[in-house]
Amino acid sequence: MNAVRVIGGEVRVVDARSPQAGAGEAIIRRVRAGIGDAEIAVGCGGGGGGRASEYTLGREFVGMVEEVNPRAGREDQRRWTGKRVAGSGIVVCGVCERCRSGLALHCAQRSVLGAGRDGCFAERFSLPVVNLVEVPKGIEDDAAALIAMVAAAVHATRVVKVDGKQVVTVLGDSPSGLVIGQIAAARNQSVRLLGMRAERFTLCEKWGIKHRHADEAGRRQDQDIVIDAVGEAWSLRLAGQLVRPRGAVVVCAEPAGDGAREGAAELVRVARGQELTLHGAAGENFPEAIGLVESGAVDVRSLIGSRMKLGEAASGIRAAGADGVLKVILAA
Ligand SMILES: [Zn+2]
Repeated sequence: MNAVRVIGGEVRVVDARSPQAGAGEAIIRRVRAGIGDAEIAVGCGGGGGGRASEYTLGREFVGMVEEVNPRAGREDQRRWTGKRVAGSGIVVCGVCERCRSGLALHCAQRSVLGAGRDGCFAERFSLPVVNLVEVPKGIEDDAAALIAMVAAAVHATRVVKVDGKQVVTVLGDSPSGLVIGQIAAARNQSVRLLGMRAERFTLCEKWGIKHRHADEAGRRQDQDIVIDAVGEAWSLRLAGQLVRPRGAVVVCAEPAGDGAREGAAELVRVARGQELTLHGAAGENFPEAIGLVESGAVDVRSLIGSRMKLGEAASGIRAAGADGVLKVILAA
């Protein structure tokens, strides 16, 4: 089967072996997949450090469950076989102390789909059934492929309280940033989004989100909360220039790109002097995400920039990383 693999740091479409379902796992036939920030970071020369040397990319998907390992039990086989699913790419052991104490997201044995563990940019891939969620009929395939992105965005807006009187800035006009902006703005009218691409502000206008070009934002250190959905040198630095003393910064994009290290050091320096609270956000909330996509409260359809075939993934990743292209969906 075709798979989009990272081999020696390069993204290549190769003929790979079909996966086997391990204990508790399902084999899923990919229907659609979304190219996300993680694939762009790897495909455009950043990120991916410290991972396995060779693995299949891809974390956002909608697919059909083809089979479930019999050792998962009859009930799970009946429950999942033939179902249309999305799911969490965070695979945990379920038995370690962190898993048992409610910190499964931070399981010491965890692996991540498309980031070391073979991902969904293949005809078939495996995932534990406990990671799956059934997609309601009302959500079409393209939108369903983006539920994982919305689930991460929901979590990023839940690690701090944004639904009060806080003054909130969301940094970033990537598809993830635009979803975080939609979710936060629905809860708090003071939310504004700062981006670098003026053409994406028409989407903010459509959704009623305040917006401004990042270069035009006043650096007055008056924001209660800054959510950084970019993770580059400029956004990490800008977060420290925007947030008020004792305010909070949420870092929800993996720092990547030239100078990210210096940007992070600058943010930590400001955090020390201004007594900021830094929050990481790496989790997901699928139940809420499905509700938001199904009801239309989060508009993901407007975020789809183009559709490509799996075999075109390498150029799709480059296109998604280029300015002006929104979400790229990989179809058959
Ligand atoms: Zn564990």
